[in-house]
Amino acid sequence: MLQIPRGDERRQNLIGGQWVAPSTEKYEPCLNPADTREVLGHFPRSGAADAKAAVDAAAKAFAGWAATPPPERGRVLGRAHALLKGKVDLLAEALCREEGKVFGEARGEILKGLNLLEYYAGEGFRTHGKTLPSEARSTLTMTLRQPVGPVALITPWNFPFAIPVWKTAPALVAGCTAVLKPASLTPVCTHLFAEALIEAGLPPGVLNIVTGAGGSVGDALVDDPRIRAISFTGSNEVGLRLYQRAAGRGVKVTLEMGGKNPVVVLDDADLDLAAEGILQGAFGSTGQRCTATSRVVATPAIVPKLTEALVEKARKIRVGNGMSKDVQMGPAVDQSQLETDLEAIAAARSEGARLLCGGERLSSEEHRNGFFCAPTVFDEVEPGTRLARDEVFGPVLAIQSARDFEEALALANDVQYGLTASIYTRDFFAALRFVEKAEVGMVHVNQPTVGGEAQLPFGGIKATGVGEKEMAEEGANFFTHLKTVWLDYTGARRTTNIY
Ligand code: NAP
Repeated sequence: MLQIPRGDERRQNLIGGQWVAPSTEKYEPCLNPADTREVLGHFPRSGAADAKAAVDAAAKAFAGWAATPPPERGRVLGRAHALLKGKVDLLAEALCREEGKVFGEARGEILKGLNLLEYYAGEGFRTHGKTLPSEARSTLTMTLRQPVGPVALITPWNFPFAIPVWKTAPALVAGCTAVLKPASLTPVCTHLFAEALIEAGLPPGVLNIVTGAGGSVGDALVDDPRIRAISFTGSNEVGLRLYQRAAGRGVKVTLEMGGKNPVVVLDDADLDLAAEGILQGAFGSTGQRCTATSRVVATPAIVPKLTEALVEKARKIRVGNGMSKDVQMGPAVDQSQLETDLEAIAAARSEGARLLCGGERLSSEEHRNGFFCAPTVFDEVEPGTRLARDEVFGPVLAIQSARDFEEALALANDVQYGLTASIYTRDFFAALRFVEKAEVGMVHVNQPTVGGEAQLPFGGIKATGVGEKEMAEEGANFFTHLKTVWLDYTGARRTTNIY
């Protein structure tokens, strides 16, 4: 019976099918960022010994799970999907209260997670290699996909349901066992997801969950030689350090990291459509999305009207506790993220950008106990300045002007990141040229920069992404290796080989 943890409730780590106390005996509260007086249970602040115990359990369970036929593995996910489908509102409430995004967005994230679960349940029937022709006669050659072994899954706080699902489901259907370390700030949805998997019949040890600081739990997972692949989503700083560490033992790694996603708006664009899409991308989820729109690059004839529309609408965004019906934007996830937002705003001002709206912490009666930043828009943002270049991960939008399409494209590409980009135009040729030339892993035409679908590969290039894309078939392929097989059916002794 899934329930949102009560304030005084102590949750435990999931190891070998049991909920067990951490060896450290330490716990930390999960706080609602919209109102920190509200506590959603206390979660283990585990240490390296707990991570090791979780890997022990994953390693022990591996042979049995890898030998379970893939359709059967998928059915466990399918049963979890059926259980969670009846709990969408409860899950959305948990998500809204642990992470802060508004209820409607939280519901959207839950539904996306459920789509992923449904998709990977079906992948149990589709896990496949290839048959390919051989140079030799009467020889069948093919590839088999096999699970890599126990894996570590490390997730950020900004999608506390969808990201744990989009890593766990493909890992499990591929036949891997896993240790999942959710972000310390947002462990609730991960626990509810795990409870559903257990109820759905997932064997003990196949999924293990350890909460605790990345520095101790994360490092212990990354260093453990039994962990054969690591899937990480989070910041560049942590991800690249993890990558170096993991490279020392040659283990498979996928990293999905930061973004600085542009929307290009050309003079012929549908202004209202563009403004709506930009606002959704910039201020939805409080800008705390890797795919958030953080830059607008617009051509001269449309800049004034577009800027006016964006500022007018941004000023009207109702900010508050996401459980209230009329609220459109929630808080920053914690004090530290709020400070990052405010620092980025201060830096933009000192580097000469013009503040058009927002730019401050909200501290009225309704905001006093949370981490609220006003929706903020700057224009006159010069290329090369921090706001043009660095990820903020908050509700801060930068508007830049470009002479023409070519300059807009150059500005859009002028960042280290390469996650997603969008263009608003009615010009078919400009749109296609943008699709071809945008240096990103995902591109949209006449749509916001945000979004992803279970069956479509998700991820970035340049400094955003390392390794295979997530979601879709590619997401599960990461957790497998390919074995190449030759089957000789001549029945005669062959004396020569081809090469
Ligand atoms: P983060 O600070 O890098 O943390 C991500 C995860 O790594 C957390 O579980 C964290 O644990 C853990 N961690 C910290 N130190 C570690 C270590 N030494 N070894 C192993 N794991 C460690 O990122 P975040 O602040 O949670 O998330 C925001 C970032 O995620 C943004 O940059 C955003 O763009 C990115 N993101 C990218 C995508 C994408 O698909 N490209 C999607 C979502 C988010 P603790 O919580 O205990 O610190």
